[in-house]
Amino acid sequence: MKAKEFGKSYLVVFCKGCKAGFRVQDEPVPEGANVQVAAAQTLTCPGCGHKAQYQPPEIRVAKYQKEGPGKRGGGAS
Ligand SMILES: [Zn+2]
Repeated sequence: MKAKEFGKSYLVVFCKGCKAGFRVQDEPVPEGANVQVAAAQTLTCPGCGHKAQYQPPEIRVAKYQKEGPGKRGGGAS
């Protein structure tokens, strides 16, 4: 798997086994692209090896930043 690039967006899911996020595909999503996932995909978590089927709503675009996709806050609370 290619290294992630800071500031690029990727299609990711959250593992149904270990809850970690991982990429659906190596390639980043072009900035501003309207990404549509048409069908459910069977994916294997690179972290724990858990294999599960993911529906399109579970597949999301996350921007890779230093804080990671699980960044919290934003000054709202
Ligand atoms: Zn996992």
